[in-house]
Amino acid sequence: MTKRVVLIGHPVAHSLSGAMQQAAFDDQGIDATYELWDRPPIGLADAVNELRSDDFLGANVTIPHKERMVPLVDRLTEDAHITGAVNTITKEGKRLIGHNTDVPGFRVALDKLVGKQKMPRLAVVLGAGGGARAVVHGLIVEGFQRIIVFNRHLHRAEALVKHFGRSAAHMELRAMPWHESIIEAELAKTKVLINATSIGLTSDETPVAGELMPPELLVLDLIYNRTRFLREAEAAGATVLDGELMLLHQGAAAFTLWTGKPAPLELMQKKLHEARAGGLRSAEGEPAGDNGSAGPTDGAAGATDGTAGPAAEGEPSGAAASD
Ligand code: NDP
Repeated sequence: MTKRVVLIGHPVAHSLSGAMQQAAFDDQGIDATYELWDRPPIGLADAVNELRSDDFLGANVTIPHKERMVPLVDRLTEDAHITGAVNTITKEGKRLIGHNTDVPGFRVALDKLVGKQKMPRLAVVLGAGGGARAVVHGLIVEGFQRIIVFNRHLHRAEALVKHFGRSAAHMELRAMPWHESIIEAELAKTKVLINATSIGLTSDETPVAGELMPPELLVLDLIYNRTRFLREAEAAGATVLDGELMLLHQGAAAFTLWTGKPAPLELMQKKLHEARAGGLRSAEGEPAGDNGSAGPTDGAAGATDGTAGPAAEGEPSGAAASD
């Protein structure tokens, strides 16, 4: 029987994850289809119950449902429990297991961004949704000693900080109100800046203007595209990276959880690039325009620091890093 894997989100149209995962199933001889389910929050519980039928191998979960999914599954793995966010579901019989593969995906991206430098200890995170939770957990595990979280709705950033309570007890994790002057003061003290908001996803806006960024920052946007945020950061002298590598590696980890097989990374990255070239959007809703993926680039030098390496490592293929 052909098995089904679904992406549950709102919206999910034109998923890049679909192209990447279906190609991986076909390549590995897995008899499965990857479907997109656009379900508003009110339809989430019913969607989750459907997954319990034998047809389903599992699911991905995306914006805006990752936190809402936590109480709806039967068991959480450690990363899902610690983050309070689920982006992948597997099955044990009819039981649903919630995982968070954004965490390993983020850690690959962070390693790439930092490159050969010593891992920094100070970070500013913009956003406090499901993606931001994976980021904060990844930073804590990497040994960061000070993480400041800014969010439009401060209470959500405060809830995130409270959630991490014990795992962040040895370091400073703080929520701060979204005021330009406070953000600027914190950026002057930090080394790593991460956009985990969806600002820039569907419009050419940036959560933080480049003029607030000191030179030599390491800047990651979870959004897949070469956003205004990244372009302005690069102009300010930052080294920048977009969300493609995280998307690829969270998807690869999910594939392995569903199938028990190693993911065909090079193929999955190729399919991501093809889907972007075809004008699709990613499962997470990232615009897949022709601006190309970003870096990491050394903004000071105005050139990418990567060469055309193996696709599986997510190396950029040229100065513009276009697909
Ligand atoms: P959520 O819906 O859980 O969170 C959205 C976040 O964006 C919240 O912090 C929200 O703030 C903020 N936000 C949205 N609109 C605005 C606005 N107009 N002004 C200020 N803040 C705003 O989404 P996720 O955390 O799941 O995803 C966030 C982003 O990260 C998305 O762009 C997604 O594509 C990307 N992502 C990429 C991944 C990858 O693999 N590359 C993996 C995970 C996420 P508030 O709480 O105040 O509403």
